[in-house]
Amino acid sequence: MHSHRVAVLPPPAVSAPPVETRDDLLQSFLSDAAHVPGGVAGGVAFPGNLGEVSSLVATARRVLPIGAQSSLTGGATPRGDILISTRALTGIGLPAGGMVRVGAGVPLADLQRTLAARGFFYPPVPTFDGAFVGGTIATNASGAATFKYGSTRPWVEALTLVLADGSVIELHRGEVVASAGGFEMAYPAGNVVRVPVPTYQMPNVPKLSAGYFARPGMDLIDLFIGSEGTLGIVVEATLRVIPMPRRAVALVACDSDHEALAVTAALRREAALSWRGEGPLDVSAVEYMDGRSLAHVPSEVVARAGVTRPGDSSALLLVQIEVPADETTALERLGAVLDGCGIDDDPHVAVPGDTRGAARFFELREAVPAAINARVAAAKARVHPDIEKTAGDLVVPFDRLEESLTLYRHTLERHGLDYAIWGHLSDGNLHPNVIPRSLEDVARGRAAILEIARGVIDMGGAPLAEHGVGRSALKQHLLRELYGERGIDEMRAVKRALDPAWKLSPGVIFPEPDRHS
Ligand SMILES: Cc1cc2nc3c(=O)[nH]c(=O)nc-3n(C[C@H](O)[C@H](O)[C@H](O)COP(=O)(O)OP(=O)(O)OC[C@H]3O[C@@H](n4cnc5c(N)ncnc54)[C@H](O)[C@@H]3O)c2cc1C
Repeated sequence: MHSHRVAVLPPPAVSAPPVETRDDLLQSFLSDAAHVPGGVAGGVAFPGNLGEVSSLVATARRVLPIGAQSSLTGGATPRGDILISTRALTGIGLPAGGMVRVGAGVPLADLQRTLAARGFFYPPVPTFDGAFVGGTIATNASGAATFKYGSTRPWVEALTLVLADGSVIELHRGEVVASAGGFEMAYPAGNVVRVPVPTYQMPNVPKLSAGYFARPGMDLIDLFIGSEGTLGIVVEATLRVIPMPRRAVALVACDSDHEALAVTAALRREAALSWRGEGPLDVSAVEYMDGRSLAHVPSEVVARAGVTRPGDSSALLLVQIEVPADETTALERLGAVLDGCGIDDDPHVAVPGDTRGAARFFELREAVPAAINARVAAAKARVHPDIEKTAGDLVVPFDRLEESLTLYRHTLERHGLDYAIWGHLSDGNLHPNVIPRSLEDVARGRAAILEIARGVIDMGGAPLAEHGVGRSALKQHLLRELYGERGIDEMRAVKRALDPAWKLSPGVIFPEPDRHS
């Protein structure tokens, strides 16, 4: 049985933990991975349970929940808020019935290690596995294997959240479903608040982190997933898990984007066959690194992966394949598919159990964003302090991917920019990144990303695939391009219903009301 009304629970009677204001401590929380300058925090607190989160929220004027601060949107950069660090919310329950209960502050790497010891796996992990469970739910993060498993959203079965007045809700998927265009929140004091469901149509893409989820008859839990801390603070979550798959990993060298896309399309077809029980090649992810991004990766990392650095117009694919007890048939089929696509060189393969080999391939993949982010940080230190990461997080329907990749390259080149492109090719989700040489490059880069975003929206895609919107002016602009001013107003109506004092993560996703006219 479901209803469109949810009972809000009173705040637990627990006193708030101290809010630390020591400058040396605050310094380490003033920035996230977007490296936006000017972070300022009123203090930081480390609640260890639901009651402590609740009492902090009830008494503060404006708060910003943070996880690992790996946000690429400035969404975890404080602007005078009290920071609620979730790092002490670290409980992990025993997996049972395909589910596990976890605290918001559990880093994904710790979750996977604990699950692996019991033979389980949590599939929708982003490339950065230091991110916390709460942060990934707040941004509806996605990883490489979205193509097979989807984004974080469908893996979240239940949430415990603290609302803006310190009260609490427990949501279980399937129990609270919108009716007549909204939900009702029944507060302990007896008042009932109506929360409207926005009417914009979300693009039909495999991953999306673009403001509030909205669909007729939607589940209330989906409103909170991806809401970037603006509607409630995730304290605990129940996640779905699966038995640990056996995985082989292959590195495939391609001479061109065209070849890389042909290989990926062929591998997606093979995967679809295998999921219907009609083939052996169960591909779960194809990651893409272009020659321009690999040019910045340290030589020792390239050498450890056992590959030679490709030229600028070439690319490497990192293919993840799930295999049964004997992987021979799957790997033979991989060889045949690559032959059929005209790939001359044999792929480098780490077979299941070769954890060291697989780790070296993943090290190469992870070194790509790290190397480009380091370039941005160096330009910021040497050239201008206002230089910041300028990058796209674009997703298109797979059949528009080649056209979109051409658009990214042509647009960035027309603006005279140095750049690199990598990402989750099997999902149609790529990250063109500007490599800034000057502050002007950052401005030119923003103009280029905006132009690209418009092209992507025209293709039925989205310019906000997995990183969210955060406090980035550019990403907030992209959100307006996607849903129009009316869509943003509909999101504000949701925010107003749940957080009338604009206390939770103000300025995240859209500007605060007084800054907006
Ligand atoms: C090298 C690198 C690679 C990355 N790769 C990917 C990728 O493949 N896919 C992907 O999706 N992202 C990726 N990211 C981005 C980032 O890791 C994700 O956005 C991640 O979900 C953020 O988690 P976090 O714990 O660091 O959250 P934070 O950065 O601390 O916070 C992110 C947002 O969530 C809110 N928030 C945090 N915790 C809570 C909570 N408990 N309740 C409510 N709101 C909360 C914050 O207020 C903020 O708005 C990458 C980042 C880096 C640096």
